Amino acid sequence: MKTKAIINVTIFDGTGTDPYPGEILIEGNRITSVSTPGKTLAKGDARIIDGHGAFLMPGMVESHTHFSWNDQPSLSAIQFMPPEEHILWCIRTAGRYLDMGWTSALGAAAAKPRLDVVTKHAINAGDFPGPRYLAGSQEITVPGMMGDNTLPHVPNEALNFGAVCWGPEDMRRIVRTFVKIGVDHLKINLSGEYIAGVPAEKDIFSEEEVAMLAAEARLAGKRVAAHARSSLSVKRCVKHGFELIFHASYADEEALDMLEASKDKHFVAPGIGWLINTLYNASEFGITEKIATDMGYKRELEAASESLTKMHKRGIRILPGGDYGFAWMPHGTNARDLEYLVKYAGMTPKEALLAATKHGGALMMLPNELGQLRAGFLADLILVDGNPLEKLSLLQDSQKILMVMKDGNIHKDLKRYAE
Ligand SMILES: [Zn+2]
Repeated sequence: MKTKAIINVTIFDGTGTDPYPGEILIEGNRITSVSTPGKTLAKGDARIIDGHGAFLMPGMVESHTHFSWNDQPSLSAIQFMPPEEHILWCIRTAGRYLDMGWTSALGAAAAKPRLDVVTKHAINAGDFPGPRYLAGSQEITVPGMMGDNTLPHVPNEALNFGAVCWGPEDMRRIVRTFVKIGVDHLKINLSGEYIAGVPAEKDIFSEEEVAMLAAEARLAGKRVAAHARSSLSVKRCVKHGFELIFHASYADEEALDMLEASKDKHFVAPGIGWLINTLYNASEFGITEKIATDMGYKRELEAASESLTKMHKRGIRILPGGDYGFAWMPHGTNARDLEYLVKYAGMTPKEALLAATKHGGALMMLPNELGQLRAGFLADLILVDGNPLEKLSLLQDSQKILMVMKDGNIHKDLKRYAE
């Protein structure tokens, strides 16, 4: 592949440096050099891509993705989509993420056992466009809790959104089943969720079951992701070494101390957009602010804002993304999270952008190869019309995301820069 030179751009390199005018060289799927501020590079016979002053930044990483959620207003509506339509939906959705500048994503749980793994393989084989992807299991739950959709007289497991665990030995079976399927990580629902009729602060697993998950995941060399809204569930994540902590709304001071003490090991993906949009944007679907408040979402948003702000001050990594794919927060609108992290977690716009890029690279287990524009790093990058540091909402506008490159290949090129 011929060397590409992207010139005449404002570079946000994801290292923490302020944006500066510069240019960048790409060979194959790697960045080979990035100019220092205001300098040019020896470009030889490279193919020139003139950015006309646009903003060049690393591709974004979505930290809590459900490709299999189908923009419907209920969990059952997602689950009852037949598998054939469902995999097609996942594939189409993956393409939308890439269009919107999310060049990597981490699966937070698939609605059926193999949807995430099959989507990832199709992307990696080059059959369909999509982000780099780490595939999740179904969400592991217990009978009667979020993820168990069966009716007492219809005990058919295929109705379930999650994998229902009946005890420690069953946990072993579930983990090994998903390892066989080929997931990158396991997902467990440690705590409740108001919309599923289970209080967010309720802990639903026995300690024996959680310990079994930890032991089996370690044996298989897999990370664990946890839906952890209660304080105890966050502490369990730290105690058992679960790397990926989703939500963490009600983390108390003890939980925050524990998190801070091992902050290099954990990522917090609050999926805070879910709380905000369920509270304020779901009335069209029957959930008014009053109803959502009565469910508990207002109290949880207040608690989450407080705990996330404290986490951010303590240097715990908080990442954007999460739980998009519902009727009131459809796929593709994920970049709303950047504004939410500023408003509710006390980040600066620059910190929000670093969370989406640099920390995202670490989340994808490629801290020295992904999420920054540096020589030797993978060429995943986007060109934006305008400066997101001045207006983060630019990243919600498909028309402002002018170019998307993943692995050195141009996926989207609105202005035909590369022609
Ligand atoms: Zn989720």
